[in-house]
Amino acid sequence: KMDKDLGQHILKNPGVATAIVQKAHLKQSDHVLEVGPGTGNLTVLILKASKQVTAVEMDPRMAAELTKRTQGTAEEKKLKIILGDVIKMPDLPHFNVCISNTPYQISSPLVFKLLSLPNPPRACILMFQREFAMRLFAKPGEKLYSRLSVNVQMWSKVSHIMKVGRNNFNPPPQVESNVVRIEPKNPRPQIAYEEWDGLLRICFVRKNRTLRAAFLGTSAVLDLLANNYRLYCSQNDIPIDDAPLDPSEHAEPEVEVEAMDLDDEWKGFSDPDEEEDELPDFFKQLKEEQRKKGEKGVNRKKKGRLSELVREKVRKVLEDDTQLADKRARLCDEGDFLRLLYAFNREGVHFS
Ligand code: SAM
Repeated sequence: KMDKDLGQHILKNPGVATAIVQKAHLKQSDHVLEVGPGTGNLTVLILKASKQVTAVEMDPRMAAELTKRTQGTAEEKKLKIILGDVIKMPDLPHFNVCISNTPYQISSPLVFKLLSLPNPPRACILMFQREFAMRLFAKPGEKLYSRLSVNVQMWSKVSHIMKVGRNNFNPPPQVESNVVRIEPKNPRPQIAYEEWDGLLRICFVRKNRTLRAAFLGTSAVLDLLANNYRLYCSQNDIPIDDAPLDPSEHAEPEVEVEAMDLDDEWKGFSDPDEEEDELPDFFKQLKEEQRKKGEKGVNRKKKGRLSELVREKVRKVLEDDTQLADKRARLCDEGDFLRLLYAFNREGVHFS
């Protein structure tokens, strides 16, 4: 019996399997990573067209079946099966092409993982649920535009290969699928991935909020940035205590930043289009950081000064330097996010 939780929909149409492997334009020198080989319908074709295949499979029964299927064949030695969850593997063996009929639960983390590799593959041929595939292509202002869209388009060239109807699978999934090609840009843009993605995470918490609200409306975000800034200062020998504050800041009564209720913050994510799979984790992290800071009992006065300083830096970046304060993330393009990141970094404000 198929395990539903593993997204096990076996591709039963050999024509589709052949087309997928053909679209990878494999060379006999290629090392292919296959994610979720299942019973091996794609694997046997990939083996014939490449030098080596690493297949990562979570289900031991599937891995056993694949082993049996290739045993005694000419290609047996080219195949290495790794048992486990591909997302949790810290080091994947080297590969230059990735092919996967992706289990739908790991679509998003898999894409992020492939994009953040230090040596990204030449091409990834991936089957996704149609709705997910559409998010990869979405442009600013479109309904499906999200952090995923911005990231994929920043780090790669993404193109559509073909539609695959649900009846090509056994058992048929709920929705239709699409095969896409993701070609990581080479050379890679000279941007630190963690910085870029850290910025996007904050902007896309709610993509319909203004950037001002995203950055200045929640104490959790300011606390995070203040923490990062403190670290940045200590690493670069910049004294925080003596840093001059804008005199006008002193004149005004201190505005209490409403402590963000982190649980409330992502309760509103019932609309799947708005949802970013990673968000709850992101907020848990923030919350954990806040808790730890509380435990450490940071000098209140010092902390007040630091957050004031960072708050002013953020305001300056949004309102003066980039003039993006009133823009909403869902309308920002890659150029806007790049300008933001440069401006923040110039002020010593970092996201990782
Ligand atoms: N490649 C096969 C095909 O096209 O017929 C099977 C594809 S099926 C949609 C997805 C496969 O991925 C299943 O065999 C499942 O056990 C495996 N899988 C699910 N989650 C996984 C994970 N986190 N890491 C590795 N494999 C996973």
